[in-house]
Amino acid sequence: MPETTRWENTSSTRTSRMLTDILRRLPRIWADRARARKLAPRLPVLAGDVPLPSPEAMEAWILDLCTTPHRRPGTPEGHRAEGWVADRFRQLGLQDVTLDPIAIPVWTADRGTLSVAGLATPCFPVIHTAFTPAGGVQAPLAWVGTGTARDFDRTDVSGRIAVADVPFPRMPTGLLMKGLQACYHVSDPDGQIGLGTTQFLNFVRQNFIGGATSAEEAPAGDVYWQAVRRGALGVCLILRDQPGNSNTHYGPYDGILKPVPALWIGCDDGVALRQQARAGAVATMTLQGHVEPGTMHNVWGVLPGVSDEVILVTSHHDSPFQGAVEDGAGVAQVLAQAWAWSRVPRERRPRTLVFVVDAGHFHGSQGAHGFARSHPDLMARARILITLEHLGGKEVAGTRHGYVETGRPAFTVMFTSSEPTTIATVVRALTGFPARRTAAIPSDLLAPVPTSDASGYVAESGVPVISWIGCPYYLLDEHDTLDRVDFAELPRIARTVTELVRIQMALP
Ligand SMILES: [Zn+2]
Repeated sequence: MPETTRWENTSSTRTSRMLTDILRRLPRIWADRARARKLAPRLPVLAGDVPLPSPEAMEAWILDLCTTPHRRPGTPEGHRAEGWVADRFRQLGLQDVTLDPIAIPVWTADRGTLSVAGLATPCFPVIHTAFTPAGGVQAPLAWVGTGTARDFDRTDVSGRIAVADVPFPRMPTGLLMKGLQACYHVSDPDGQIGLGTTQFLNFVRQNFIGGATSAEEAPAGDVYWQAVRRGALGVCLILRDQPGNSNTHYGPYDGILKPVPALWIGCDDGVALRQQARAGAVATMTLQGHVEPGTMHNVWGVLPGVSDEVILVTSHHDSPFQGAVEDGAGVAQVLAQAWAWSRVPRERRPRTLVFVVDAGHFHGSQGAHGFARSHPDLMARARILITLEHLGGKEVAGTRHGYVETGRPAFTVMFTSSEPTTIATVVRALTGFPARRTAAIPSDLLAPVPTSDASGYVAESGVPVISWIGCPYYLLDEHDTLDRVDFAELPRIARTVTELVRIQMALP
């Protein structure tokens, strides 16, 4: 998910402003939806069979890709993933398989600790923040709530370690999708989206969105940069709304090196820390590691069709941890389409397919931006961008002992741009091949561009987009493991994607 959203410059009423904004847009969404429903049955669909890989083949891809503990940009593990994707592309017969390099600083933490009054508090480094001296930073804690101007006026953080809550917005998914129908289509064949279904958007750190390079540039409500501006020596951020007391939050992933060390604390561990900070207890925090120049690579290949008009199918290969769902699952869906369409004779493929598994989603989405910028000719020929991320992940809920599976698939959305044929494509595909717990929503419902890895392509080129993505709670943390994937579900998802491509292949 990209780091910039509609809420970035607002303060305590972000969620309600977002909802007001959506409410205002409802009549337009309903009108687009009605028009798409009329158009959908009349859309042409490419004739003939398109074979699909077996569930076992798709499972094997994910197991193979996710053998390293992470695939962070510019690391040896990241490079292995790039080579692995390129090998799969070549094996599937894609042409001109290319690795486009992008230079980045590679930030690596070796150790992050926090101790208060001699007792260790579990924590995880906030990526791309500054390292402490070897002995750490010792200073009194200072509680600043959610870091509003009033919070900082009440509490002097200069020469101290600021402690704050970081909240996430809570999306009333069921009310929006089923109640108000703030979407183009709901696909819920099992009836598993209830009116009361809600979800925290844990990629939206409301008071630490990311994307700022200085205190001057940051939104007024940005707790990290306000603490920096007011002279804090370090920052401890409590993940107040992250279920399951998880603290391995890999964000903000804007790729921007930041000047003061910071640590994430889980919601349950945060209860004691909040009290200690209110009392001004003395703490020692350490964050040690190194930054080196490095390189990451976009991997892409071509399956030529009759015309040179392009259907782009993309995901990203990097991941903060094992990344079975984020984004082993997305890569597997891209490979499934490459597998399927490489078995269809070229004369039966009216358009050219370009498959991109890009780099650095977790480095400011620089791979997606870089691809669109460095291939303007290709982007100009692109009729549609289909981005596939986190599909087939299991839903979890948080308990005091961590995550538990709910038995349902994680809710997903298809960010869909507003061209009538794009909306109708999605409605037609989801009607014929109904995916579980999915809603197609306007591509700009949450932010000007989809909050997904499609954002870079759309921002740079304006290409029409269908960006299918899920957001289970474990996405950005170490619990994104192989057991979170519902492997049996993957071919069914691939079938829906194939239908999107069949329609886009046949459009005049
Ligand atoms: Zn992803």
